[in-house]
Amino acid sequence: MLKYLLLFLVVLWLWHSPAIRGLLKGKKPEAAPPTRPGPKPTGNEPDQIVPCAHCGVHLPFKDAVLDIGGRVYCGDAHRTAGPRRP
Ligand SMILES: [Zn+2]
Repeated sequence: MLKYLLLFLVVLWLWHSPAIRGLLKGKKPEAAPPTRPGPKPTGNEPDQIVPCAHCGVHLPFKDAVLDIGGRVYCGDAHRTAGPRRP
C-alpha cells in the first residue's frame, strides 16, 4: 500500500514539475541563457609569444623583428642571418 502512495506522490511531483509541464505543452522546459560574448579586449592582455625563426627563442611579438616574408626574429642579427636551415 505504501508503495502506491509513494508512486502517486512521485507522479504528482512530476506532474507539477516545470520541466514536465513544459514538455507537455510542447515548449522547451527552460530556455538556455543567452550566450554572452567573450571578454572584450581591454589592451591589457599579455603579448603573444612567438619563436625566433633562426634560434627558436621565444619572445613577445612586440619585441620581434619581422623580415619581408613575415618571419619572426629575435633581432636584426638573426633577421640578416635568415631562418635556420633544417
Ligand atoms: Zn634568434
